[in-house]
Amino acid sequence: MNKVHISKCPDYDYIKVEQAVKECFEAMPEVKEKLFEGAKVLVKTNLLMRKNPEEAVTTHPAVVEAIVRYLLELGCKPIIGDSPGGPFNEWNLKGVYKAGGMNAVAENTGCELNYDTSVIEVHNDKAKLLKTMQIIKVAHDVDFVISAAKLKTHGMMTYTGAVKNLFGVIPGITKAEYHFKMNNTANFAEHLVDICEYVNPLISIIDAIDGMEGDGPSAGMKKHVGLVMASTNPYALDVAASKVAGISHELIPTIVAAEKRGLSTTDMKQFEMTGVPMNEINVEPFQLPTSINVNFVGGRVPKFMEKFVSNTFRPQPVFDHAICVGCGDCKRSCPPDIIKMVNGKPIPDLDKCIRCFCCHELCPIKAVDIKKHWLHEKLFG
Ligand code: SF4
Ligand code: SF4
Repeated sequence: MNKVHISKCPDYDYIKVEQAVKECFEAMPEVKEKLFEGAKVLVKTNLLMRKNPEEAVTTHPAVVEAIVRYLLELGCKPIIGDSPGGPFNEWNLKGVYKAGGMNAVAENTGCELNYDTSVIEVHNDKAKLLKTMQIIKVAHDVDFVISAAKLKTHGMMTYTGAVKNLFGVIPGITKAEYHFKMNNTANFAEHLVDICEYVNPLISIIDAIDGMEGDGPSAGMKKHVGLVMASTNPYALDVAASKVAGISHELIPTIVAAEKRGLSTTDMKQFEMTGVPMNEINVEPFQLPTSINVNFVGGRVPKFMEKFVSNTFRPQPVFDHAICVGCGDCKRSCPPDIIKMVNGKPIPDLDKCIRCFCCHELCPIKAVDIKKHWLHEKLFG
C-alpha cells in the first residue's frame, strides 16, 4: 500500500525520461495488470497556466510523452487533460496545451488532447466533506486516471504533488467556489483528499526532474532535483516527495488529513521503497512559500495565541500596479470576489481576503507578491 519508486533522471532528454518513467511503471506491476486493451486513460497533467515547460510550473512534456507511449504500447487510449486556472473552455485549453508542449506530445504520439468541456455532478457517500462535486466529464468517462504531477511548493497548501494535482478535475471557476467554501487550509485539505479518493488514480507519477521552490506553484524558483517518482498510493508518494524536498510533513495539510484518515503513514520506515534509496538523495531543502500560515509554525507562540496571531499577522497579497497589465485574471480567480478593477488595476478588499493566494498563483506576469506582516517577519522570520 505504501510502495514508492524513485528513478534518477538528470535532465529532460527524452530517452532518459522514458527509461525513468518505464522503471516507475515496472516497479508497480499491478498497474499493468489492471490496464486492458482499449482502456481510456486520462493523463491528468498539471497544466496550471500558459507556461512553457522550462519554467517548471507545468508537468514537462517529456514526462507526459513517456507516460502516453507506455500506455499506447499496452493498447490503451491515453487522453491528456486538465482544467487549468481560469474558465474551462476550448480557448483556454488550446493556450495551455500549446504553451506546455502538449501539442507536440499529441503530434509525436497520436494521442488525444481533451477538448470536452462538459461537466458532471458526481456523488461519493464515503467523502468526508465533498459528498457531491462537479468534475470535468472526461475524468468521469475514462476507465482510469493517472496523476502526472509536478513537485512544487504551494502558497496555500505548502506543497503540491500527486494529491493537489487532482484539484484540476474541478472545472475552471468552480475551483474558486470550492476554495471559498473551504476557506481554511485544514478544510481545503480534506476537500482535496475527498477529490483524490473519488478520482482514485491508478498510479501517480511526479515530475521531480526540475521542481519549484519558494513562492510556488507559479511564481517560485526552479529547483533541480533530478528524479521521477511514482506510487499507486498518491498520499504515500507525497510523503516521499515532500521528504525529498525537505519539507516537514506537519506543514502539509493534505498529508496531515490523509494520515488522520489512515490513507498513508508519514513513517517512511513502513514504506516499501524501490529504485534510488532515500539516503542517496541529497537535495538542499526547498525554500518554503512566503505565505506559509503561522498556524503551521505553531509552538513558537503560546497555543491560545496561535489563532489571534494567525488572523492578525498573516501574510497578504500585494499588487504591483507598475507592472500589472490589467488582464483581470486575479479578479476572475478570486473566490470571495473581493478584487475590484479600478482604472484597469486590481484593488482587493483585504478585510475579506481568505488568503487562498489564487491571485498570486494565476497572475501571468508575477505582479502579485506575498508580503508578511512586519511582526510576523520578526516572530517567524
Ligand atoms: S485577494 Fe487573492 S488571496 Fe485574497 S481571497 Fe482574493 S484571490 Fe485569494
Ligand atoms: S495583477 Fe496580474 S492577474 Fe491581476 S490584473 Fe494585473 S496582471 Fe492581471
